[in-house]
Amino acid sequence: MNTTMTARPFDTLLRKEILDIEEYRLKVRPARIKLNQNENPYQLPDSIRREILDRAASLNWSRYPPFVPNEQLESLAAFAGWKREGTLLGNGSNEILQLLFTSVLERGRSVVINQPAFTLYKLLGRSAGAEVVEVMMRPSFTFDVDSLIDAAKRTHASLIVVCSPNNPTGTLLAKEEVVRLLEETGSLVILDEAYVQFAPVSQEQLLREYDRLVILRTFSKAMGAAGLRLGYGLMSPDLARNLDKVKLPYSVNLFTLLAAEILVKRWETFRSWIDRIVAERERLFRELSGIAGVRAYPSAANFLLFETMTRTPAEIFAALLNKGILIRDVSSYPMLQRGLRVSVGTPGENSEFLSALKEAV
Ligand code: PMP
Repeated sequence: MNTTMTARPFDTLLRKEILDIEEYRLKVRPARIKLNQNENPYQLPDSIRREILDRAASLNWSRYPPFVPNEQLESLAAFAGWKREGTLLGNGSNEILQLLFTSVLERGRSVVINQPAFTLYKLLGRSAGAEVVEVMMRPSFTFDVDSLIDAAKRTHASLIVVCSPNNPTGTLLAKEEVVRLLEETGSLVILDEAYVQFAPVSQEQLLREYDRLVILRTFSKAMGAAGLRLGYGLMSPDLARNLDKVKLPYSVNLFTLLAAEILVKRWETFRSWIDRIVAERERLFRELSGIAGVRAYPSAANFLLFETMTRTPAEIFAALLNKGILIRDVSSYPMLQRGLRVSVGTPGENSEFLSALKEAV
C-alpha cells in the first residue's frame, strides 16, 4: 500500500467548519419517566396502529416509494391549509431545515438566529460555513425583534430563523413580529412551528402574502409520531421547486408515508391529546410558580422552562434522575445558566415530577 506519497492527513480532508464544531451528544439515560425531549406522552390508539400495520403489510416493500408522493402531499397540504406545490416532506422537519440551510448558506453569507433556541440552527449554520449571528432574547424571554432586524440588515443576512413557540423558552412570536421580519429585511425567514398545535395561533396565512416565508411543521410532537420521522415545510411553490432539485430522493420511506396519510385522516379521533397536554402545562406552570426558589416561564408549547435559585441545574437534574425522572438541563444554552426544561407528561408523570422537584430544591 503505497499511498503515502500523495496522501493528505485525514483531518485535512474534512472541511474546517466541520472539524471546528463541538460534538453534540444526547446521553442515553434510561428513566422511568421521560420528560426530556418534548415528545407526546400518549400512544396512538391501537385501532390506528393496527390500520397502519395492516395497510403496510399489503404494500410492496421491494419497490421504491413514489418519486413524488402526490397523495400524501395533497392530504398534508390540505391538512396544513397550504398549496400542494409549496409543500415538501422530509425525514423529520430536521431534513427540511438542513435542506434550507445548505441551499441558502455558504461561506461569506450570514444567518441570524434568535437565542436561546433549538441547537440545530447554529450547528447547521456553522457547518454550511456561514457567519451565525446570534441575537439574545429580552431578559423576560420575549423576542427582541428590533435587534433581529438590525442584525439581519447589518450583515445582509440571507436567512433569519425563529421558532414559535420557541424551544426552549415556550415564547410565542406575534403575527406582527413575523410581518416585521419579512417587511423590514430582505432575508428568507424560517418560522419553525414544531410546537404550534399547543399554541393559540399559527401563521400559515402569512404564506399567501410573503414568498420569503417558510413554515416548518412536524409529526414528532402533537401528532405523537417522533419515531416515524416525518416533517414538512410550507413555502412558495417556486422555492419548493428549487429545493426539490437537491432534496434526497425517497428520504421519507413507504411506511412513514402511509402512516402520515392515516394520521392526517384520523387526526380528529385522537387530537383530544392536545387539550389534555395544554391543561397539564397550565397546571405545571401554576404549581411550579408556587414552589419557593423556582421561577417558571409561561409557555405556548408542550414544555416549560424554569429556573432554580437554591441549587444548580446539574444538582436538580441529578436529584430527579435519581428518582427515575429525566428532564433537560439547558444550562449550557445562552442566557440559561440556571435553566431546566421539562416536557409535559401524563398527569401522573407531572405530579411525580412536581413532588420530586419540591424535595430537590
Ligand atoms: N424544531 C424544533 C424547534 C424542535 O424542538 C425539534 C425537535 N426537538 C425539531 C424541530 C425536530 O423535529 P423533527 O423530529 O420533525 O425532525
